[in-house]
Amino acid sequence: MAVPKRRMSKMKGRKRRTHYTALTPTVVTCASCGAPTRPHFACPSCGQYRGRQTRPAAE
Ligand SMILES: [Zn+2]
Repeated sequence: MAVPKRRMSKMKGRKRRTHYTALTPTVVTCASCGAPTRPHFACPSCGQYRGRQTRPAAE
């Protein structure tokens, strides 16, 4: 059975794992209107981010 000749360095493994990203986008609910939105993004339906209005609400 094939066995690795050398122990892989911490950097080598970590560099490979930089490409391991979440495949499904994270969804949170808006605090003001409850619509599904992405974290760290203004809500697409009401435009609120952390209690502030970022743009005119889409109505
Ligand atoms: Zn909202």
